[in-house]
Amino acid sequence: MVEDAPDVETTGWRVADEVLEALLETIRESDEDGQPTIDFDGFVAERLADGSAYRLETPTATVEIEASTVADAGASPASRDDPSRALEPIAPYVTNWYVWERTVGGRETARRAFLRWCEGAPLDDPDVETGETKTDASDVLERYDALESGVVRHWGELEITARLARESSGHSGCGERVYEIRHVQDADATDETLEDHNDPRDAREIVTYDEDGRYRPLKTAPTLVTGWHFAGLSGDDLVETVRTIYPATIANWHREQRGDLDVDHWLETAERQTGIYDVIDELPREALEWLTEACCVDSQCLKRREWEYAADEPIDTDHGDGVFPCREPCSLVVAAARKWAILESEEEKTWELELTTTEMNQLAEIVNAVADGRVDEIREADVYDGANRYRARYLRAKRMDDGSFGEEATDR
Ligand code: SF4
Repeated sequence: MVEDAPDVETTGWRVADEVLEALLETIRESDEDGQPTIDFDGFVAERLADGSAYRLETPTATVEIEASTVADAGASPASRDDPSRALEPIAPYVTNWYVWERTVGGRETARRAFLRWCEGAPLDDPDVETGETKTDASDVLERYDALESGVVRHWGELEITARLARESSGHSGCGERVYEIRHVQDADATDETLEDHNDPRDAREIVTYDEDGRYRPLKTAPTLVTGWHFAGLSGDDLVETVRTIYPATIANWHREQRGDLDVDHWLETAERQTGIYDVIDELPREALEWLTEACCVDSQCLKRREWEYAADEPIDTDHGDGVFPCREPCSLVVAAARKWAILESEEEKTWELELTTTEMNQLAEIVNAVADGRVDEIREADVYDGANRYRARYLRAKRMDDGSFGEEATDR
């Protein structure tokens, strides 16, 4: 019996034999255990009070299957035909249940949460404090519609597209998803113009160097090379590829979603350092503003900084808008802090330097160009830019005997 059936043409989904078998088996077994049968993403299955049938309910349609059909299911292929056809109006809900509970599985894992995020599904993790599951009757039909054309999400510099896999492309038609990853800057590039990959291990090479062939010490720096894509990935391969490109980001994002991200603030991190990094706890408090401005803002790192100077002492620098959080000062920041801790121990002096106003401004232009990574963009012909190579060489020739401001600068 079908009530309020949706337009099946718009979904075009059938319930494959293995999905049907899994569904009937689950209904049968959980019913024997006296458990509620299924309650997932708006799909509810339960036995009628008189025991004659099972009611399979979704927000758009309800199907009833006789108890004898459920009991006989699996006996022969022919016995599957009727329930299979009866389930067509709710096929998206059934295949959605199958994909998440049977194919993906891993309740409460970061992998599952990330895959659900990729297609805009609500997370189904229980809240850490209340134990309540957040999943709601999300509109599976709307989600399936979006998955038909591809749900696009951005994770750092990655553009991830989730799609429904069709039987025509060699999949089983059980509602599996396939994923594609490319650089956000390649959003409009045709597949033919991109280097094709399908092995997550290929990502190791992609993340190692930037466009200029320089080693990338910080994997979350916005310097990922363009010109590649991973296509036809399974959920597991998608997660492995993302983990290679941005290590630990999925796990920390998931902890944050569950409300149990354990943050190590600057003081805790600094105080536990030993050996050559022991000095970083001597970095002055105000220097943390400069350090985070130098290293942690969005232009330098795609993580959203969640650590502060101490739990009750925030750092004013912008935390960033990244999807994934940063839970502690990273090794690059610790290494840089060692240098700054040593430099900050130097005494300040007043210097007297003979420069024209334009030359003084030029020093600022040079510092800004280096700090913003603009040096390579300044054309040789652009002598109006103070950081132009010829302008800098002219200043050096005029004011820097022996390669430094030396005798020109007087320590007063
Ligand atoms: S400490 Fe700063 S630079 Fe390092 S990963 Fe975190 S936000 Fe990025």
